[in-house]
Order: sequence, then C-alpha cells, then structure tokens
Amino acid sequence: MYKDEIKNVKPHDGNAVLNAGAVNYLPAIKPKRVGCLCCGSNVETHLPMDTVLYMGFGGWMITKNGELFYMADSNLEWEQFKTLADIEKAAKKDTKADWRAVCDTPLYGEVFQRQRGKWVLVEENAGFA
Ligand SMILES: [Zn+2]
Repeated sequence: MYKDEIKNVKPHDGNAVLNAGAVNYLPAIKPKRVGCLCCGSNVETHLPMDTVLYMGFGGWMITKNGELFYMADSNLEWEQFKTLADIEKAAKKDTKADWRAVCDTPLYGEVFQRQRGKWVLVEENAGFA
C-alpha cells in the first residue's frame, strides 16, 4: 500500500510546468507521517519557514545547484542560526536554481527541495550514524 502510494504521488502542477524550468524537480515523497504539519497538504510535506537551520552534532545545510550555500557555525547560539525564511529571501531571487535543505543527524536525514516557493520533502534516510 505504502509503496504504491509513493509511485502515484504527482507534483501539484503537472509535468509540463516541471519541465519548463532549468531545475530538475524530484518527486515529492509521501512522508511517514500523514499530511503536512505546516499546511495540512496530504500530497507533499513542506519544511516550515520558521525552521531553525541549526548545526551541532548534525544539523542543516542549504545547497544551491549542488553546492553549499549555507551551513551555520556550530558554535553559534540558537538565536543566531538562520531560519528557512532567511534562505527563502535569497531563493526567491534565483528561482531557476536547484535549492535544497538537507537535514543530516545521527538518527535520520531529510532532504527538501524548493519547488514553486515551497520546500518539499523529497528524501528521507537513516542519517549518518
Ligand atoms: Zn505544508
């Protein structure tokens, strides 16, 4: 059941829109939890804009076209880390780029890709431990 659902997940706007730009959008994956905590979507899970992009023993990286765009210094205080909203300001100005938010911790990993203004879950993994 779960595997079939993954195959059938389609991006909201269809392939025509997806192929129009330079970014190769990955298919949104069905999250293990049901529905999106930020907006209730049951098709995609989005990363909330107030997500704190912390770095400690594991944490967040933002990549742009496969290159590191932002990774916090792990010595920063919690209030000093950027949030996804800060990154979104830059991403909005360069929507043709492939923006990804990569969470990597000892216990789990997640990858979100910016697709039409939302950061969509495209990968879950077991982390680096
Ligand atoms: Zn959402």
